[in-house]
Amino acid sequence: MQVLLVEDDGPTADCLRRGLARYGYDVDRVSTGRAALASPLPDLVLLDLGLPDIDGLDVCRELRARSDVPLIVISGRGSETERVVGLELGADDYVVKPFLMRELIARIRAVQRRGSLSGRAVGPAEDRDYGSLTLDRRAHRVFLDGSEVLLRPKEFALLVFLVDQLGELVTRERIMETVWDSNWFGSTRTLDVHVAALRSKLGGALSIECVRGVGFRLGVRAPAGPV
Ligand code: CA
Repeated sequence: MQVLLVEDDGPTADCLRRGLARYGYDVDRVSTGRAALASPLPDLVLLDLGLPDIDGLDVCRELRARSDVPLIVISGRGSETERVVGLELGADDYVVKPFLMRELIARIRAVQRRGSLSGRAVGPAEDRDYGSLTLDRRAHRVFLDGSEVLLRPKEFALLVFLVDQLGELVTRERIMETVWDSNWFGSTRTLDVHVAALRSKLGGALSIECVRGVGFRLGVRAPAGPV
């Protein structure tokens, strides 16, 4: 598996490269944001935030705008705000330095697992209709009454997870564990942000009922017109 390591600090990068190689990862390292954006898409990105040219969060946003490549932020900035911002920009996980190589490997594996769960990995094409919504999981596209609705990768992953539990009450913890990674995250505010985005983008077709203190329940409204 090809990992793009974006890290300006030489000793840290060498240490990570050696550690990752021991677990069979093939590491391509760059030391600037610009070089990261110019690199071919890898299987996974490890992204430091403190880069000499472009802020890592901007690199994260730009990579997300282009692809849903699995991306883990590795940063010395560990504040709640930094984590929430990283997540909202589409990072799959956020690891605070210093960390153990074992821990990083566990996070990488979890991100890969979630990627294949949400249909990011190659799988059979599966178009399904939910009321006036059509989900194309393989292409990561959603259509509302035949018109495409643009969702961010995490919004798509959340939608896929919720439609798979249609009508069920799903706890916040379960959503965080599956769509994000509960280990590193103190609050679930970002979940509310993503639910609000889905409601606003797909409001006519879905009801995402909030059960206070517990979680959410997804319902599908019948398509308009004669049944
Ligand atoms: Ca740095």
